[in-house]
Amino acid sequence: MFIAIDDTDGRNGGCTTHVMLRILSDLGLTVRELPRLVRLNPNIPFKTRGNAALCAEVGTSGAPGRKIGEYRGKPIFSSEEVLDIQDPEELAERAWKIVTQDARVEDEKTNPGLIVAGERPDASFYMQAVRSVVSLDTVREKIREMQLVHRFAKNGRGLIGALSALSWPAERSTFELIVYDDPSPPVLPYDLKRRVANFADQFAGTFSNFDGENRHAAIFPSPRTPVLCGIRTSDPSDIIDFPEQMSQNFNVHYTGYLLFQTNQATDDHYQHRFGSFEEFSSYAFNAVVLTKPFSKRGGHWFFNYSFGGKEYMAAIFEPSKGLRALVKDLEIGDYLTIFGSFMNGKINLEKVRVIERARTFIRTNPCCPNCGSGMFNAGRNTFVCPECHTRAYLPEYTEIRRDCSRFYYEAPIAGRRHLVSSEPEVYNTA
Ligand code: ATP
Repeated sequence: MFIAIDDTDGRNGGCTTHVMLRILSDLGLTVRELPRLVRLNPNIPFKTRGNAALCAEVGTSGAPGRKIGEYRGKPIFSSEEVLDIQDPEELAERAWKIVTQDARVEDEKTNPGLIVAGERPDASFYMQAVRSVVSLDTVREKIREMQLVHRFAKNGRGLIGALSALSWPAERSTFELIVYDDPSPPVLPYDLKRRVANFADQFAGTFSNFDGENRHAAIFPSPRTPVLCGIRTSDPSDIIDFPEQMSQNFNVHYTGYLLFQTNQATDDHYQHRFGSFEEFSSYAFNAVVLTKPFSKRGGHWFFNYSFGGKEYMAAIFEPSKGLRALVKDLEIGDYLTIFGSFMNGKINLEKVRVIERARTFIRTNPCCPNCGSGMFNAGRNTFVCPECHTRAYLPEYTEIRRDCSRFYYEAPIAGRRHLVSSEPEVYNTA
């Protein structure tokens, strides 16, 4: 049986991943494979933080499995052979009780939804929800059609995320181990955070632990949720040992942890084939630069590019180095792959790959073909030698040497969106 939830946290606290942890622990459920933390359209205006939805395939304990989490000392297991739950209504009712205890429904933006299903809906829901805007009516229609057991509060918008998380096919995935200190972790000193983040680096496959550019321990989220830290990894094999080792080495307290399979760092949100740009959607496409970057206000930078025969504007909002280097490196005529989100009629850049740099030239007065002196510009495309009065009619063009060693620009870890994958800066230079 699959269970999915979304939209339980509010701006002042809570976290839907923690609600999933409590459901698994309090109901004594065993998970097939791993619970899933599915990030949806990062541009959606209703989101509280990172637009995450949760789902898990659950049963009662079957064959002995491996430990994937713990809540207040009680282990949570994964097993390939869970015993199926017979009554979806009962599962929904018991899980919904936990959702209603934890959901921050007093927040006007919080509209929880829960779905229990015997099978996954087709992947199209996920693809739509990660790349564009899905209507609640479409989701309700699908729920009716599949006769899915569900619960919701207020306007029930969380059903969109719940159905979409269920339909994630997990063709590309990474993992995240989230460690909790419920109800909210203390503020740790910066130096301790940095040391814990560096310690996380020692676990195989982990990434985005520490943002060296901004001296920021990225594993620690902003406050007001029960999340102490989250370690992202491409290799889930030994990360489960992290919480205990962290506690032993640094004396940092935790109340629980859970390992998730995620679509983070998969670039799933980018549309590659499309007719026109739509608000709140994200795209990856090739374009030619039409203007040098220019600054308008508040330190933000913009440039115009041509795509499909039309001119558009791109914005670089990222406030630190990473993408900012692009501002000085871009020239008219550069051919780029742009990755970004279309908001307010502009593409907000998330990363850029240079396919080919334009050759750029400066125009100068020619030297006299007769005596070699520098000629002066006499107007009307005429150049005159001050020594021998010879005339010439063509200027000289000198190529400017450009630094072509850099082919890839991205936001630093602290400014990177959950879904965006990172590529090495040396990309394409071999
Ligand atoms: P939480 O931790 O509670 O999940 P969040 O930052 O992930 O917080 P939500 O509070 O879940 O964001 O708010 C996102 C809301 O937007 C949810 O109700 C979800 O169902 C809905 N939603 C997500 N993706 C889409 C989409 N593509 N189209 C329309 N609605 C969406």
